[in-house]
Amino acid sequence: MTARSQEVRAPELDAMAWLGALRGAAEAVSGHATLDNAAREVIALVGAVAGWPVGRLLSVRGGHVTHTRVWQVDGTDRYQALAAASDVGAGRLAERAVAIGDAVWTTDLAELGPIAAEASHAGLVAAVALPILRGGDPVAGGSVAVVECFTDTLDRPTALVLDLAATAVGQLGRIVERDRAQAASGEAVLLTEVAHDAYIAVDDLGRIVDWNPEAEAVFGWAREEALGRDLVELAVPERHRPAFAERLGQLAAGTDRPVAPRRELTALHRSGAEFPVQITVWTAGGDGSRRICGFVRDLSERKRFEGQLASQALHDRLTGLPNRVLLRDRIEHALARAGRRGISVALLIADIDRFKLVNEGMGHDGGDRLLVAVAERLTQLLRPGDTVARMGGDEFALLCEDITGYHEAARIAARVVGAFDKPFHVQGADIALTTSVGVAVGAVGGPAPELLLRDADVAMYRAKDAGRDRYEVFDETMLADATERLSVENDLRRGIAQGQLRVYYQPIVHLDTGVIAGFEALVRWQHPTRGLIPPVEFIPSAEATGLIVPLGRYVLDEACRQAASWVGSHPAGERLRISVNVSAKQLAQPGWSDEVAQTLAESGLAPRQLVLEITESVLMDDTDATAVRLEELRRLGVRIAIDDFGTGYSSLGYLRRLPVDILKIDKSFIDGVAEGPHESALARAVVKLASTLRLEAVAEGISTRKQLLQLRRLRCPFGQGFYFSRPQPPAAIPRLLDLGVLEGVDPGE
Ligand code: GH3
Ligand code: MG
Repeated sequence: MTARSQEVRAPELDAMAWLGALRGAAEAVSGHATLDNAAREVIALVGAVAGWPVGRLLSVRGGHVTHTRVWQVDGTDRYQALAAASDVGAGRLAERAVAIGDAVWTTDLAELGPIAAEASHAGLVAAVALPILRGGDPVAGGSVAVVECFTDTLDRPTALVLDLAATAVGQLGRIVERDRAQAASGEAVLLTEVAHDAYIAVDDLGRIVDWNPEAEAVFGWAREEALGRDLVELAVPERHRPAFAERLGQLAAGTDRPVAPRRELTALHRSGAEFPVQITVWTAGGDGSRRICGFVRDLSERKRFEGQLASQALHDRLTGLPNRVLLRDRIEHALARAGRRGISVALLIADIDRFKLVNEGMGHDGGDRLLVAVAERLTQLLRPGDTVARMGGDEFALLCEDITGYHEAARIAARVVGAFDKPFHVQGADIALTTSVGVAVGAVGGPAPELLLRDADVAMYRAKDAGRDRYEVFDETMLADATERLSVENDLRRGIAQGQLRVYYQPIVHLDTGVIAGFEALVRWQHPTRGLIPPVEFIPSAEATGLIVPLGRYVLDEACRQAASWVGSHPAGERLRISVNVSAKQLAQPGWSDEVAQTLAESGLAPRQLVLEITESVLMDDTDATAVRLEELRRLGVRIAIDDFGTGYSSLGYLRRLPVDILKIDKSFIDGVAEGPHESALARAVVKLASTLRLEAVAEGISTRKQLLQLRRLRCPFGQGFYFSRPQPPAAIPRLLDLGVLEGVDPGE
């Protein structure tokens, strides 16, 4: 889904980055850091993920914010002046956060109190206050400190982001409490009472001699029950007991370092359940009364949280399917396995057809439910071991391992297309959908995951181009086409931006007199290296990429401006008409009629002098919306021409329904018009039809005198073509207008 627009939804949380910040915060706090240092580290970590370049730690005493302890600013010097205001107190923001015991966000800088002016001067516009709560409990007034962070954007963080930031910052509470406990009693022992970790001490025989309240909570044994018991038997799963007992023995004998590095182990709960813990162990006391002490932290919660975050980062939230990141990983593994076992891997990309319409029809929520239903159906289709992923938007991917080759891949693709035959039942309605599927097959020595994804994508686009509701299997020629299209697209984008487009004008004449009736504006591309490029070589790609919209706007502006200047400067100007081609994409833009009205007003061209040419296929496509748009244009006073008339479908009903003024007879009917009655029959029919419906007919592509004479006989009123004039640059037009009548030159005569 590279070139097409995808709907912008709430930005995805960067779960991995947050996970990193949370881990970093926990480590900063456990790393025996001082509060100030740990706070700076935590503010920097959180700030980096959340986009908050500056922050500070404020002290709280008796429920009130007292002063700034420390600032943390990003690497630039933008915020140095602000940080220099170091011992200035806080404003209402921090007080509010303390009062309610929850994160508070504001864009009212006055709430920052004394530093408001300085913060605004530094370009900051919003701030968040994150309370650090006693015991981690969200109790109003229970804050032990506050962190304030500042940002230079007004974007409000989501509740989840505030929550994650508060969790990271909240870790600092453990240092505050440790420091307070030490200061209050001078006894390190107290530390074990306030610790958020379980504290356990054993004697040199491994019998429990200390067991704090947190240990009771973590292991499920009350202090009285635990004291005197053998730690290994009580709290270590059986299979780990020998190794654990040996380590304890070494510590007791003093043959190991007094403080062991932190390790992660599996512990045993009273209930028999095992859970992950982190332990920090040290030895205390001298010979004879040696104790082995340790902090044990229950990691279950963290692991769960990490698991959740990791899963969130790898799965699509709406459907629960693996996302693009996880799919890529699975492709990589599948390819590696395929390489070893000499089998193939098929990757299918399925994009729902015209999902935008369904979405608009049933609302975004309904669209979401439909996507979930599609996800379920696709999942049922596959064998266990295969992967269905959501790539984003209405695009899904299926990864099938262990297939025999292209034939089997194509069979699976046919099954996917066929799976949409039955309607989807959503919100009490049956919704019919189709899908377009691209297939790529990877085998030994085959493409890397990105290439396989790209190939399947290219094939999917081919299926769309070929009419949708089908699959296409990737082959190399598709890639060449797609690459070509991409390079044209980039080139064209630059061309439009750099003003390389030119508008040329081809005269339209009264066929009986040769008097110039108007001009058709035709775009050319003055390419810096390829020279003048005709529209057939770039309009299809402009259509496919949506670049046709800015391109069309440019041509319309330019043509109206030019035409108005000829009207003002030439006596024949009043009668002139300027025709401009309009693509379906432009017509589909809501408000496009207003844009036309504005262009006319700005240029000063009278609406009746503007003709908008629309191809027949546009009218066949989407009649209701088109009819509304055409009516709007008609009300402006603009005329509508049907371009390439006769090349589309044969239903002519729309000619009566829609406000059409002019039919342009396609060149293919004109080519043979002079050859005989048989060849001219169609042209004759169209001219007749036009006159019956009181429409003007314009013959396109007249190149010989014979054609002109025959068209006169058929009473076709207008025409254009090389016989009269090729498209001309604007500078050549005044001279043509001076001539007034075009004689016509037959190259064959
Ligand atoms: P095409 O046949 O060319 O695929 O046409 P399409 O209308 O399906 O267009 P495309 O695949 O380019 O765009 C998919 C649309 O799906 C864009 C958007 O309106 C809608 N969409 C994208 N993501 C979501 C989503 O999460 N929920 C809902 N309800 N709609 C979405
Ligand atoms: Mg689609």
